Amino acid sequence: MVHELTCREAGYDCDFMIRSESEDQLIEMVQQHAKETHDKEMSREDVQGLVKTV
Ligand SMILES: [Zn+2]
Repeated sequence: MVHELTCREAGYDCDFMIRSESEDQLIEMVQQHAKETHDKEMSREDVQGLVKTV
């Protein structure tokens, strides 16, 4: 099972997209992207709410 998140679906005008088999890794990378690019702190729960599994 692969976890996927796109910034666009999260409501940002941003082409960031990430896919990972590791949810922990995906959450960490999304948190880093959100902070660096959108100046937004996301909790683990915030990220999990946006992740799709494909
Ligand atoms: Zn983004």
